[in-house]
Amino acid sequence: MEQLGFEGMPRRLYACTPTRLSAWLDCPRRYRMSYLDRPPPQKGPPWAHNSFGASVHNALAAWWRLPRRERSVAAAADLLDRGWLTDGFADAVQSAQQRARARQLVQDYVAGLDPADEPAGVERTVGTRTKLIAVSGRIDRLDVRRAESGDDSGELVVVDYKTGRYPLTVDDARTSMPLALYALAAARALRRTCRRVELHHLPARRVLAWEHTQDSLDRQLRRAEDIAGECAEADERYRGGLSADRRDEVFPPRPGSWCGWCDYRGHCPEGMAAAEARRPWDGLASAVPLEAGLGPGEPASGESDEPAPVVPPPGEPAPGGAAPPAPVVPPPGEPAAGGAAPVALPPGESAAGGAAP
Ligand code: SF4
Repeated sequence: MEQLGFEGMPRRLYACTPTRLSAWLDCPRRYRMSYLDRPPPQKGPPWAHNSFGASVHNALAAWWRLPRRERSVAAAADLLDRGWLTDGFADAVQSAQQRARARQLVQDYVAGLDPADEPAGVERTVGTRTKLIAVSGRIDRLDVRRAESGDDSGELVVVDYKTGRYPLTVDDARTSMPLALYALAAARALRRTCRRVELHHLPARRVLAWEHTQDSLDRQLRRAEDIAGECAEADERYRGGLSADRRDEVFPPRPGSWCGWCDYRGHCPEGMAAAEARRPWDGLASAVPLEAGLGPGEPASGESDEPAPVVPPPGEPAPGGAAPPAPVVPPPGEPAAGGAAPVALPPGESAAGGAAP
């Protein structure tokens, strides 16, 4: 499918994921190394917080796939133990401690769910297209909730699990471009209304929710198209041949404290000068209380809409039923959720965000 693009020349439909678009926003050099350089530069060692997040996501996805009568708290703990990923931890002792913590998170979360609910999707890949982009991604869970409008078929709700230590707010849910794109894609795929997006932050036991309007969803889609346009132009210039000294014009580095978490820091002089290397287990939450707050660029840990480096990535939305699922101990008066982790959240935690709609 050809579309008119730059300088009046035909432009191909740009296929992408929200993660790819976020990578461009975060750091064009990192984007280039992740998506264009072939063979790709060797990444740094795996991150323990990614193992942690993927293990939790996988356990929750597997739990929803159990027959309803087997969806118990004990089953969730067992799934977590059996699927525990060990990459990135300092040693067996740390891995065991973190596994126990992850098990508790999963147990506490599942205890608040109704096993009788049936998500419309779990780690479900959805996609949508416009005249300019074809965007796809994987949703942790897609719920069907009773619609306030009285629609008996219910409305879809995008649920995104978060396991990182980075505190989230409702603004994270509101400004998350990936969540908005998932909502649009889910609505089109299942032909149902989908306006609500939720971040379920397991460590804080909080659900951060945002109810989009069609206008706010459309704004996020336009924004994705704009970013994809920049990516497409940069990709074309790369494929057209760029000398080494021109590469940084098109793919400039964006160095900062977050570079300590970048998989490609070892190939990036600016990144090495900007931040000390982090140890693979430094992103674990054990040492830092959530209340302490973390600066931008701190790892959140979790999931991606693309194949995760550590293991099958988590990711999709879910279920339905009549009543809204009892989420993570919904704290009175707390919204929230997440995404917009600034630049370079370590692989595994989707950032999701961008300009507010
Ligand atoms: S180290 Fe920093 S500047 Fe370098 S590629 Fe990674 S995020 Fe970009």
